[in-house]
Amino acid sequence: MTFDKLRCALYNCCKLNKRTDEDFLRSALALARNAEKRGEVPVGALLVLDGRVIALGRNRRERNHDATAHAEVEAIRAGCQKVRGWRLENCTLYVTLEPCPMCAGAIVNSRVKRVVFGAYDPKAGAVSSVLNLFDLPLNHKPEVTGGVLAEECGKMLTEFFRKKRKK
Ligand SMILES: [Zn+2]
Repeated sequence: MTFDKLRCALYNCCKLNKRTDEDFLRSALALARNAEKRGEVPVGALLVLDGRVIALGRNRRERNHDATAHAEVEAIRAGCQKVRGWRLENCTLYVTLEPCPMCAGAIVNSRVKRVVFGAYDPKAGAVSSVLNLFDLPLNHKPEVTGGVLAEECGKMLTEFFRKKRKK
């Protein structure tokens, strides 16, 4: 650790130690990889509040026999338990793939402040690609940043499906 970083950590000024969107998305990628090892479509998500990770999620549809067990829903459920409430007003959700309509709905319902996603999903993406649910006149409008580490996030999915087709 450099002295500047140490000083920042000690004074908690967070200028140098602050994790970036890319850092958090890299952690979400690790969760996606973990899902893949269990035979799931590799998607990972996490919730961040005040620069700290408060909840994790990974796709668990196969394991749970649950069509709704998307990474985002898992992270939102865990996050609500963590804050002991259903509002995630100051949270940012990081996810490796653009949210589908169900997850975009869950994001609106939980009042997540900001969404950062990796790869665009031309088949089911509901915050940019197929439609933009957040553009509708709903009671909550999250901020969105898309395409962060898009190549890495997309590659993980295309490799997964390519391997699957070979089997
Ligand atoms: Zn989803």
